[in-house]
Amino acid sequence: MDHPENNEEYKGLQVNAGVEGGVSIVNPYRKKNPRKPQPTVSEFVEGIVKGDITMLSRAVTLVESVKPEHQVIAQEVIEKCLPYSGNSVRVGISGVPGAGKSTSIDVFGTYVLEKKGGKLAVLAIDPSSERTKGSILGDKTRMEHLAVHPKAFIRPSPSAGSLGGVARKTRETIILCEAAGFDKIFVETVGVGQSETACHSMVDFFLLIQLAGTGDELQGIKRGIMEMADGIVINKADGDNVERAKLAASQFRTALHMFPAPDSGWTPEVHTYSGFYNIGVDKVWDMIYRYIDFVKLNGWFDYRRNEQSKYWMYESINEQLRNSFYQNTLIEPMLAEEEAKVLQGKVTSFVAAKHLLDAYFEDMKK
Ligand code: GDP
Repeated sequence: MDHPENNEEYKGLQVNAGVEGGVSIVNPYRKKNPRKPQPTVSEFVEGIVKGDITMLSRAVTLVESVKPEHQVIAQEVIEKCLPYSGNSVRVGISGVPGAGKSTSIDVFGTYVLEKKGGKLAVLAIDPSSERTKGSILGDKTRMEHLAVHPKAFIRPSPSAGSLGGVARKTRETIILCEAAGFDKIFVETVGVGQSETACHSMVDFFLLIQLAGTGDELQGIKRGIMEMADGIVINKADGDNVERAKLAASQFRTALHMFPAPDSGWTPEVHTYSGFYNIGVDKVWDMIYRYIDFVKLNGWFDYRRNEQSKYWMYESINEQLRNSFYQNTLIEPMLAEEEAKVLQGKVTSFVAAKHLLDAYFEDMKK
């Protein structure tokens, strides 16, 4: 429900009450100056590095903003935070809706904070949130323990733009969180395809949450997603589901053997656990830390982070070029025309594309 302060009718009542009663009624909840001034870049950086959560949140809001003036500040803040970033374990957590991601992240997070100390940030990549107007992933209400944990920071998925844009913002948020001293980062994503690839390209360990079902466990799981996984965990191994979960685990192990060995040198593991009843959660975290030790020792950890940086450089270029093209005021109306011509068979796709690109490059020269 809206706060009464935001209700026009209520505001009117307050004013009238004051006049009629002959006394001035001051709403005690009314903030004098609700708009805080925007901090400067150095204030942002100083606050973030000190671990000030309000500053971190405000900086993330700028990262997520589509306004060019916000982006300018955000990029400067990110650049200045870069030297303080990198010192974390980044874990991607994926699974179809209902697999138990939020329940699991809540127990995983609480467990890892208790065992290892430090600070945890939970972020998300959910490109579908653009359509549904509001991301579910990373929603605090789904993680009741972490939501009130003093060492946890939960941020739902940025909701504006293409998958590339959403993912870039999440990656930039990782940098800010690390600079603010978060040494454990979870990136949640929904197991449907492309968002996994984006998530995989910004984490050190990619965890796939699966369920034991009926029939062929491997049905419907894209080979590509399985190949990306450093660990597969079968959730809800509790009650009368334990045996089915074990069976699913052995089917996944067999399937993983058929894939070529990963370049990291690590053999992906499969475990069963129950997020809800907190059974076997230690095994999952033992696996992740063994992996991190393993890849730090063989050099894969640093190599992969460098590769990821390179990937994101090209992704940024692609995104900005795409935006520059599609948001060009000359191109925008031409697109519909050329599209219609292609659909009517008047020109081929390639010719239409060439017309548009030629017009764009000409416009860029001006
Ligand atoms: P998400 O959509 O992947 O985030 O899944 P949720 O965490 O919201 O879980 C979906 C449903 O499965 C909820 O009703 C949970 O209570 C239930 N659930 C999650 N983990 C477990 C588990 O370990 N065991 C059982 N039996 N139920 C679980």
